[in-house]
Amino acid sequence: MKHNFIGGVWVQGARAVPNINPSDQRDTIDHYAQADSAQARDAVDAASQAFNAWSVSTPQQRFDVLDKVGSELLARRTELGDLLAREEGKTLPEAVGEVTRAGQIFKYFAGEALRLSGDLLQSIRPGVSVEVTREPIGVVGLITPWNFPMAIPAWKIAPALAYGNTVVFKPAELVPGSAWALTEIISRSGLPAGSFNLVMGRGAEVGPTLVNDPRVAGISFTGSVGTGQQLAQACTARGAKFQLEMGGKNPLVVLDDADLDVAVNCAVQSAFYSTGQRCTASSRLIVTQGIHERFVDAVVDRMRSLKIANARGQGTDIGPVVDERQLGIDLDYIRVAQAEGAKLAFGGHTMECDQQDHPGFYLVPALFTETHNAMRINREEVFGPVASVIRVRDYDDALATANATPFGLSSGIATTSLKHATHFKRHAQAGMVMVNVPTAGVDYHVPFGGRKGSSMGSREQGRYAAEFFTTVKTAYTFC
Ligand code: NAD
Repeated sequence: MKHNFIGGVWVQGARAVPNINPSDQRDTIDHYAQADSAQARDAVDAASQAFNAWSVSTPQQRFDVLDKVGSELLARRTELGDLLAREEGKTLPEAVGEVTRAGQIFKYFAGEALRLSGDLLQSIRPGVSVEVTREPIGVVGLITPWNFPMAIPAWKIAPALAYGNTVVFKPAELVPGSAWALTEIISRSGLPAGSFNLVMGRGAEVGPTLVNDPRVAGISFTGSVGTGQQLAQACTARGAKFQLEMGGKNPLVVLDDADLDVAVNCAVQSAFYSTGQRCTASSRLIVTQGIHERFVDAVVDRMRSLKIANARGQGTDIGPVVDERQLGIDLDYIRVAQAEGAKLAFGGHTMECDQQDHPGFYLVPALFTETHNAMRINREEVFGPVASVIRVRDYDDALATANATPFGLSSGIATTSLKHATHFKRHAQAGMVMVNVPTAGVDYHVPFGGRKGSSMGSREQGRYAAEFFTTVKTAYTFC
């Protein structure tokens, strides 16, 4: 049984739930505490009390804590990657890579704690100087989704602590194992009691408790559009700061002049790896007519060679869908697309034989062709291994189609034309643009985030994280 962590102490939850392996439902990883609203408020109490001390801690103290957490994550990447693969269904290489990324993020923000700087300016008035400094905002509520159970918590927790805030962390219900393991490492890092608190529990109960608590100065949220919009309203109503990263319907444009191997790699990697469960997944493959047939044939060939199996198995390319509910959503969208006239070129069915050996939620990745941008399959986020090809006339048609979406997270193009690549970088309506690299897969030292319906508030990661986790003070001195 794994407990919540509040005020430096492990505490039993109001109840507990099992954590089930999506690759094999017979495997229960452990039971995890579920906080109720009262326990979530206890965590806010603890974080509020700890703020006075942690907000004035030295950069060296912050560096030491974050660096220690980063070092342990890196040292234990194989073991923690296996836990992540077991509870979320990512393949082992993907999961170990994610834990590695989490370690790198903690190390990066350890350095950022030392590098935080301000400005010193002369005033327009004689004898007066002006200092511009950054201070922590207070207690922050960090609410995360299930699809990156280590990396997303890391890229919120590390900057929150680096800039002197105290934290109440609420992970997604489906992945308490990684959250608990990360908390256990943080609990031994030398951080003062109460500065970091873990409340596992139901989103509908613990989430609003944090969002509506006047002592929580800011909420950093990653998850679905529906939840994000509710949260934005609640935070706006009480004047709390918020930062939302939500869904995507990311385009990958493939032009006639593309290197076919590069285009196919970008498509297969971004659309289907991590079981398509990435907010940056390429779900709309927008292909000009001269390369359309060759591209579709090559993608289908690659899809045939993918090994879909237990996430922890050797050589697995694609693990299971995260749970039964998400599998149901994926299959519903596959039916909707067919009913709308899309042609299923490959996959889209569950894998009965693997389910007998490993009763899990296995779905063969689906590719649709003959689709158009107004179909639901091209407008709504599926969040599974499902992609569709949209045939377009030329570059202008491709760019217009790529931008014709309520989302704006990541937008990609495969081309050997410098002219089109340059134009696309300038005109793609997205927070991140990828030329000849997959739409999914980003660096940790540069900003991450989207536009339009994908994001609200300031960017995460890199130096831009300071925008959310600090507030600016301007001080005038006459002497
Ligand atoms: P979700 O919105 O269901 O849940 C996200 C988190 O919010 C969970 O911790 C959940 O418990 C909590 N929550 C649920 N109801 C709440 C409420 N009323 N108040 C406060 N918190 C509440 O999302 P999910 O299914 O866990 O994740 C999938 C979604 O996340 C997809 O839409 C995906 O695109 C998005 N996502 C976005 C990014 C990005 O950076 N843009 C990254 C990863 C995932």
